[in-house]
Amino acid sequence: SVVVVGSVNLDAVTVCERFPQPGETVTGVSVAFGQGGKGANQARSAARSGAATVFVGAVGDDGAARTVLDSLAGAGVDVSRVARTPGSTGFANVTVDGAGENHIVVVPGANASVRVDDAARSAIADADVLLLQLEIPLPAVVDAARAAREAGTVVLLNPSPVQPLPGVLVELLDGVIVNRDEEKALAEVVGRVPHVVTTLGGDGARATGPDGTVDTPGFAVDVVDTTGAGDAFAGALAAHWGLPPAERLLRANAAGALTATAAGAAAAPTVAEVDAFLAAR
Ligand code: ADP
Repeated sequence: SVVVVGSVNLDAVTVCERFPQPGETVTGVSVAFGQGGKGANQARSAARSGAATVFVGAVGDDGAARTVLDSLAGAGVDVSRVARTPGSTGFANVTVDGAGENHIVVVPGANASVRVDDAARSAIADADVLLLQLEIPLPAVVDAARAAREAGTVVLLNPSPVQPLPGVLVELLDGVIVNRDEEKALAEVVGRVPHVVTTLGGDGARATGPDGTVDTPGFAVDVVDTTGAGDAFAGALAAHWGLPPAERLLRANAAGALTATAAGAAAAPTVAEVDAFLAAR
C-alpha cells in the first residue's frame, strides 16, 4: 500500500483566443475544472495502478474542497486523513490562448498548512511506500519521511518544484524520482540516495539502484498533453515498488506514456489500461 503526503488543488483551465491586456476583459472559449496538485495526481495514479492508497493533505472550507475530495475518492483514494482548514483549497488558475501558450496562477491555500499528525503517522507506518513531493511545507515532508523511516516504510521523493534539500531529509530517502532538470539541479543529492529513477520524457526512464542500472525506452504514442505524465509515472512506480526494478520501471513508463495521450493533469491510467497497452506492444 502507498501513502502520499502532498498537495491537492482545484484546477480551472480557461481557453481564450488571445490573452487580455492588463485592465482588459476578453470573452473566453471554454472552461474546465479538474483536480490537480502533484500529491493528489500521484495518489490518483497509485490507486489506479492497483495499490491501496491513502492521501494525506489539507483542503479549505470552500466548495472546491468537496470537488477535489470527490474526485480523489472516485479514483479509489482513501481521503479520510485529509484535514479541513479555514480558508481556500489550493487553486490553479490556468489560461491558455489560441497558440497554446499558458498563464498560470497557483494559490497554495490549504496546502500551506499541511502537517503530519498522529493519524497521518499511523497511516505512514502501515504503508509499504511513502511518496512525497515539494508542494507542501518542507517540515511536513521531513516529518513524514522520519515517520516512515522509523516504521520501515520505503521513502520516495519526487523533488518538484525543485529546491535545495536539507541533509536531514536526504538521509531519510530510499529513492528519488527526478526528471532531467531535477537530476541536474540536485546532482550532489542524487549521488547519496540508494535508488535514483530518472524520467526522460519521450525517451522513457532509467533506474539506478544497489543492483545496477535498468533502462526502459520511451513508448511511441500520439502525444496530446504531457501535463501530469511525470505524476502518473511516480504514482505507478510507488504502487509497483514491490516488483523487480525492470518491471516496475516498465509499468511506470507505460503509465506516463498513456497519460501523455490524454488531456489534463489527472489522466493516469488504470492497471487494466496499462495491461492492455503492454499486451498490444
Ligand atoms: P516531467 O513531465 O515530470 O518533466 P518527463 O517529461 O520526463 O517528466 O515525463 C515523465 C514520463 O512520462 C516519462 O518517463 C514517460 O514515461 C512519460 N512521457 C512523457 N513524455 C512522453 C512522450 N512524449 N512520449 C512517451 N512518453 C512520455
